[in-house]
This record gives sequence, C-alpha cells and structure tokens, in this order.
Amino acid sequence: MSVLEITGLHVSVEDKEILRGVDLTVRSGETHAIMGPNGSGKSTLAYSVAGHPKYTVTSGRITLDGEDVLAMTVDERARAGLFLAMQYPVEVPGVTVSNFLRSAATAVRGEAPKLRTWVKEVRTEMSDLEMDPTFAERNVNEGFSGGEKKRHEILQMALLKPKIAILDETDSGLDVDALRTVSEGVNRARAGGDLGMLLITHYTRILRYITPDFVHVMSAGRIVESGGADLAAQLESEGYTRFGGGDGGEGTPGADGVEPAEHGRVLPGVGAGGA
Ligand code: ADP
Ligand code: MG
Repeated sequence: MSVLEITGLHVSVEDKEILRGVDLTVRSGETHAIMGPNGSGKSTLAYSVAGHPKYTVTSGRITLDGEDVLAMTVDERARAGLFLAMQYPVEVPGVTVSNFLRSAATAVRGEAPKLRTWVKEVRTEMSDLEMDPTFAERNVNEGFSGGEKKRHEILQMALLKPKIAILDETDSGLDVDALRTVSEGVNRARAGGDLGMLLITHYTRILRYITPDFVHVMSAGRIVESGGADLAAQLESEGYTRFGGGDGGEGTPGADGVEPAEHGRVLPGVGAGGA
C-alpha cells in the first residue's frame, strides 16, 4: 500500500506562479484522472512530482509513504517508485530501446536484471503492446510515430513496475487502435491492484477505455472540482467553459476522431498565462 500525498503545492516556472495550491492524494489501486484546459498546469504538476529542475516548488509538500519527495533527486524519486510518462517524450540518439530499458531497470531495481529472464520479460510486454521485436534495436524515440512513443512509455511503466505512475496525455496523438492498445497496457498494469495512477488528459476519450475512480478538474493552477467517473461524462458534454476554459470547437474534451497537432492544441480564450 503506497500513498502519494500532495499538499498546498505552489510551483513557479521562471518566476511565474503556475500551481497555486494543489491538494491531491493518490493511493495504490486508485486511478485519478486530471482533466483541464490547456495551460491549466497539468504538466507542471507532473514535472514537479518527477523533479524537473525548471519547476520550482515555492511552498507545499509532496510525500510518498511519508517520505519527503521534494528532498529527493530525480533518480531517488524513480527508485522510490515514482514514474512519469511524459507528454512529449524526448529522443535519446545513439541509445537503443533495449539498452535504455535495461539501464533504467538496473537503476530502479538497484541491480541489473538477469539477462535471460529480462529478455523474456521485455519480449512478453512488447508483444502485449503489439510492438514489433525489431523496435528494441531502434534508438529511443528517434523517428518514432506518436503511437510508438506512447507504447514505449507504457512499456517502461510495465517493466519498471512503479508504485505511482503519472501518465501525461498518453492519449494525445493516438489513433483509435493505438489508443486501445495503450489503454489495455495501462489496464494490465492496474490489474495487480498495487499501482496508483494519475492519468492526465485533456480529452475524455481515453476514459472510455480506462475507468477512473476519481476525476479532478484543474483550472489556472488549482483543482477546482473533484468527482467520480461521471464528472468526465459531464465534461464531455459541457466542455471546460464553466472552468474558464473558453471552450468549444476542437478543444472540447469529448471531441473525437482526428486530434489537432500537439502544439496546436491551445484552446481559444486560454492565454499562455493559463489564467
Ligand atoms: P497543461 O499541461 O495543463 O497544458 P502546463 O503545465 O504545460 O499546462 O503549463 C501551464 C503554464 O505554465 C502555461 O502558461 C505554460 O506556458 C507555463 N509553463 C509550463 N512549463 C513552462 C516552461 N518550461 N517554461 C515556461 N513556461 C512554462
Ligand atoms: Mg500538458
């Protein structure tokens, strides 16, 4: 049983306050969806928990099983059982997926996984995620399609077996088939019952495959509403307008089918300040 506890979290980026008092508790076995308009601070929350140096915690606490996460380095956070699947996974030229995964597993587990069982483990997870075995020999994220990048994130999660996983817009840029495969991967990871999950998403469509226990709406750096899975259904029909999302058109969280390009997904009416 693990608990990630976030209390009164204030975070600034380049002297601009982005998170303005976030309280959230995620326990093993729980899936929390965080939804909200672009620029509301969802990724900032994810990066702050993971320990990205650009995000400065000005006040508040983050603990994992009572341990002070903010006092830990990024590596220590990973070893403690925190995992972040990034919204925009980065390329690692010259490092193959296979080597990357083994290094990550070694770092997190504290010892190199036994080669024979490891190879089998990776193969099984890859096949479950409908990934071609040759994928393991490609360089991390180099020339990966959107779907390949997200599958690779879920593959890492499956192999590293974190206590708490934060998935930042793992659904963005996926076609329906990839969305289903990725969601099934997430549900397999949840099935053990030990994983606590923070599923950050702008759109409700992934919540048709992954049913959250709790849904939170983030707006202007705060969680402004929390509820059950039915809150997502409500957002699907109403959009974020009443949360200051200036919604409509392509930004509607329920909007399905072809998603606009990643960087083009700024909602009309939501300035860079996210206020
Ligand atoms: P969301 O993930 O909800 O779309 P973000 O957390 O990415 O929102 O961004 C919230 C606000 O913080 C935005 O105004 C964004 O421009 C700003 N911000 C986030 N990261 C950075 C950064 N690295 N440098 C400057 N501004 C940033
Ligand atoms: Mg984001």
